[in-house]
Amino acid sequence: MIRIAIQSKGRLNEESLELLKDSGVTVDNQKRKFLGRAANYPLEVLYLRDDDIPEVVADGSADIGIVGLNEVEEKGVAVEIVRQLGFGSCRVSLAVPKDAEYSGLEWFQGKIIATSYPNILKRFLSEKGISASVRTIMGSVEIAPAAGIADAIFDIVSSGGTLISNGLVEVERVLYSQAVLIANPSLSEEKRALLDSLLFRIDAVGSSRGKKYILMNIPSDKVEEAINILPAMRSPTVMPLAASGWSSLHSVVEESELWDKVEKLKALGAEGILILQLDKVIA
Ligand code: ATP
Ligand code: MG
Repeated sequence: MIRIAIQSKGRLNEESLELLKDSGVTVDNQKRKFLGRAANYPLEVLYLRDDDIPEVVADGSADIGIVGLNEVEEKGVAVEIVRQLGFGSCRVSLAVPKDAEYSGLEWFQGKIIATSYPNILKRFLSEKGISASVRTIMGSVEIAPAAGIADAIFDIVSSGGTLISNGLVEVERVLYSQAVLIANPSLSEEKRALLDSLLFRIDAVGSSRGKKYILMNIPSDKVEEAINILPAMRSPTVMPLAASGWSSLHSVVEESELWDKVEKLKALGAEGILILQLDKVIA
């Protein structure tokens, strides 16, 4: 049995459960429940506030966890970062009032900075040789300058909308964060094996993200050219059609290149192009 800690509610909850589900691990999202059990994998789920996840994994109350890198860095506890999960992206940045004459990091010398991430901030300031006072506030940090209790803030930014509506501008991006899978560094052999088999599944889900399966009919004399447009994992699959002179071509494409490739294939005479969802990719 392995125990995973995930956020009980908030921005990471849904995608954490989705990742488990796509990995074939079914757990119910009962928000009031503290501890759940997967139906089809030897896994227990501990639902916590995100702030508590790094410590709980470090002390072994949970074996693994899904949490923002920002919380891991802030808590500074000994956990292994096993995977970057590609969701919950944000940055932790310094922001100043928009009418401040910001000239560079020196501006912060002697200033008061409000934040919920005092440890990351203190580390950054000392690395840069800036002495400023750090005022820890949990929640609504962005109103601190307007309320006259700080000169600047250090907080999470994603779109930047919150900053703008509070009359602030982002001036220094200190940490780029996303959800990460963390593990206790001294897992038993049994738990390490369960983690490895879970990772195998998570990686298969991750590899399929941003990719599509494409198939089409194409004149057989154009197959060579089409293959040059469509390199697949090993090489595309080509099968003869019942109609002579035609082949069926199957491959995998990056979604970002999809339309460009479809246009080129159509120009070659491809017909009946189907683009399908990919669930898992096991290389
Ligand atoms: P909890 O009740 O679990 O303590 P919280 O209010 O501290 O929740 P959320 O707002 O749910 O936290 O955010 C969880 C994580 O989502 C953040 O720590 C961060 O890693 C990530 N995140 C991504 N984008 C944003 C954003 N725009 N604002 C806040 N967090 C974000
Ligand atoms: Mg929190």
